[in-house]
Amino acid sequence: MITGKNYIGNQLSAKGSKTYKTFNPQLNINNENVFIEADSQEINEAVSLASNAFKECRTLSGKRKAEFLSAIADEILALDDELIKIYCSETGLPEGRAKGERGRTVGQLRAFAELLEEGSWVEATIDTAQPDRQPMPKSDIRKMLVPLGPVVVFGASNFPLAYSTAGGDTAAALAAGCPVIVKSHPMHAGTGELIASAIINAANKTGMPNGVFSNLNSSGIEVGTQLVSHPKVKAVGFTGSIRGGRALYDLAAKREEPIPVFAEMGSINPVVILPSALKNKGEALAKTYAGSITLGTGQFCTNPGLLLGIKGEELSHFIQNLSNEIVKVEPSCMLHPNIIGAYESNKQKALKQPELTVVADYNSDVKANYARQTVTTVEGATFIKNTTLHQEVFGPYSMVVQCENAEQLEQVISKLEGQLTGTLIADDDEAKQYYKVIDALQNRVGRIIYNGVPTGVEVCPSMVHGGPYPASTDSRFTAVGIHSIKRWVRPFSYQDWPNNLLPDELKNENPLKISRLVNNKQTKDVV
Ligand code: NAP
Repeated sequence: MITGKNYIGNQLSAKGSKTYKTFNPQLNINNENVFIEADSQEINEAVSLASNAFKECRTLSGKRKAEFLSAIADEILALDDELIKIYCSETGLPEGRAKGERGRTVGQLRAFAELLEEGSWVEATIDTAQPDRQPMPKSDIRKMLVPLGPVVVFGASNFPLAYSTAGGDTAAALAAGCPVIVKSHPMHAGTGELIASAIINAANKTGMPNGVFSNLNSSGIEVGTQLVSHPKVKAVGFTGSIRGGRALYDLAAKREEPIPVFAEMGSINPVVILPSALKNKGEALAKTYAGSITLGTGQFCTNPGLLLGIKGEELSHFIQNLSNEIVKVEPSCMLHPNIIGAYESNKQKALKQPELTVVADYNSDVKANYARQTVTTVEGATFIKNTTLHQEVFGPYSMVVQCENAEQLEQVISKLEGQLTGTLIADDDEAKQYYKVIDALQNRVGRIIYNGVPTGVEVCPSMVHGGPYPASTDSRFTAVGIHSIKRWVRPFSYQDWPNNLLPDELKNENPLKISRLVNNKQTKDVV
């Protein structure tokens, strides 16, 4: 049952006076539940509890943390239809999408549980002492990864489950041993509260300390700002707009003690279509890309917002085919009035740019909160000089850039801001000739796709979801997959520490039987 209250540790609390409701974009009405924004005292309580809980969390065994994460997954599944219904009412997304995203969320939690059970992720590294070394003896030094401390998580509106309350950032931070305070997304506050209740139930059942998790309601920037400024908060995870992520990054950098902000933000995901591939499969590509651009009403961070090709008859045909295909797609609902408002205004801003041509624009009437898909085109030279055209238009919008030749194509790519993905559509024979274009693309993105679409982010250890700024604030890390845990830890060394005082991961006898780098050799052997 939705209460509209905050979880301050394991207690429901509603001391604040500011209230708000979520919105059903399909019905174009507010949902009934009233949510009470966390007040300043509640924010401080949540952070203090998290800071206290960290004293226990930082030394919890992998097995205990794995039990907690598995229990969260079980509790989320136990929410069953109640969760699916509220998800759909707060997003306008269909039931199939809700169930798919729930599966992904539960899968992520279980993947981290497995990682913790196995235990080698801490990168235990042991260099034993050499007392007889000349000219100086060498100490015994042992290193492993340790958690940072309380983490604040902000989720995006377009993934109420997988990138939100119990999404990848939360799962990874809890796995690392960091307590988590979620700044709930106002557009799916009910979904957030149900998920928070599942996490609290799981925490209670598995004996986690009070404060390991809190969920704070808010509909504005105040709660998030206070959280990021709080001296006891040690890191931030953010998924959302460049504007929001950058504001929080700057805020964290200005603190007396600056802290890392791992923000996953916008991207226009360039797709390079080489001439021979265009000739051989242009028609099929047009269909595929009409589907990818409009998938989920274009509300994916990996939406292909930029298609790059070399001028000519084939590219003109492709643009015509793409236009024909995309207007056949039935428009669908966007997540909330703010997001459709931003789509319309960003699109209008793009359309006002000189020398840009609209080639497809769904122009029949649509219901309230439904988005009209649009495709535009510009010349390479125009794109290079006008950086407004490089900005994300979050929604079912894409622009085809017509380049004069391979050199200009390479130039266009190197002018792009950092991106989550880049895609190459090529015939096998031609890819090699365009190695400079491919190199330029690789230098701008976190993931490169061959003959596919960028939409769809598999959760697996080899996935990189991130990229050079502004795709993310730190391109050295991924936000998806088990390696995303590395955002919430720091390396730590013990020098000449007695064996019985070392954590199990670093003890001579290797009681956890994990894989360690011992004197430069990867092994599970005892020291
Ligand atoms: P958003 O408007 O940036 O909101 C995300 C969260 O940040 C909300 O809780 C919001 O709170 C908070 N926030 C935003 N600006 C803030 C500020 N200045 N100070 C404090 N808090 C702030 O993003 P969205 O509209 O939900 O999501 C759409 C965007 O997310 C798109 O640009 C999309 O590309 C991006 N996205 C990226 C990824 C990725 O993995 N890279 C994944 C999904 C989505 P309030 O709403 O209460 O202000």
